[in-house]
Amino acid sequence: MRVLVTGGAGFIGSHLAEALLLRGDEVVALDDLSTGRLENIAHLTAWPRFSLTVGSVTNEPLVASLVDQADMVFHLAAAVGVRLVVNAPVHTIETNVHGTETVLRQAARAKKLVVVASTSEVYGKSAVFPFREDADLVLGPPTKTRWGYAASKLLDEFLALGYWQERQVPVIVVRFFNTVGPRQSERYGMVIPNFVRQALAGKPLTVHGNGAQTRSFTWVGDVVWALLALAAEPRSVGQVFNIGNGAETSIRELADMIVAMTGSDSDIRFTSYHEVFGPNFEDMSRRVPDISKIRQLVGYEPQVHLEQILERVIDYWTPEMPAGITINAEHAEFAEKTLGKASAGSAVSAFERPSL
Ligand code: UDP
Repeated sequence: MRVLVTGGAGFIGSHLAEALLLRGDEVVALDDLSTGRLENIAHLTAWPRFSLTVGSVTNEPLVASLVDQADMVFHLAAAVGVRLVVNAPVHTIETNVHGTETVLRQAARAKKLVVVASTSEVYGKSAVFPFREDADLVLGPPTKTRWGYAASKLLDEFLALGYWQERQVPVIVVRFFNTVGPRQSERYGMVIPNFVRQALAGKPLTVHGNGAQTRSFTWVGDVVWALLALAAEPRSVGQVFNIGNGAETSIRELADMIVAMTGSDSDIRFTSYHEVFGPNFEDMSRRVPDISKIRQLVGYEPQVHLEQILERVIDYWTPEMPAGITINAEHAEFAEKTLGKASAGSAVSAFERPSL
């Protein structure tokens, strides 16, 4: 199968591309390298079945030709990262809305399956925990730029489902919950790479607010597994799925874990949101997914817990450690149990699935 991955040089996109190659697919990554990085895919360029097209997901003729050549699309290209979103609201909204619009329009013409990446941000300030896919969404006002990101991804969701209802384009919408792992950049504010780098450098860990806010961190390999399993399941079409991990951790606890695990003598410094993001910033105090829907449909179960994730991210950022990390080992065994297809120990066949 030939798969187009928009955002293929990004953090999640590069891990997905790797898993697709391992199971025997041909992968075309489309990335404008704005937040994606060549280092993320340097190890993939040796594969003859991998190619990178540098370009924008809003370039309609380019997207049209790539969609035509592909059997299906994972649409991950987006403006992401709270810092980027707050600093560049127009770029964020335009990239997210026009990009998805372009991909869906072209997929509709060619009738190709599209998995559209959305985000747990769409739940906003909802206080009904854990977050279920059919829950009401509670966003803040447009004067607070953060919500522009949630609104843009929500519009992507409406558009995708609209294409399914009105034009029978097969789409699957996925909401990612704080996906983490090696290759995630610290540049756009993501907490784990920031804390790990601060701890390794002996600098204070900058906790925003009082650190009581929680997140549910999800191993990137679990997310990749979920994406492949959903794409292989015809009943997932036309639906929205949370992809996350039910375990919740406060940011303060996270900082303590990272200091302890790195053996750092860094302090923890509390900084106000105002200081970091300026006035008009709002954070959510909790974010935890209900994963029963995806569990029931494809047998998804997160395999890697936070401590293991942190070990791997710390290894990744520790100088002298090899950067190439095999992410799929535990999934071979898991897939064998749930999908019944993997041959023992083979990460390649862990991702096998029937053609669409
Ligand atoms: N955060 C923090 N220090 C940092 C970066 C992030 O305390 O250096 C906090 C951030 O304010 C949020 C949480 O960690 O409450 C998760 O932030 P991230 O940007 O990773 O993801 P978000 O869930 O906000 O999209």
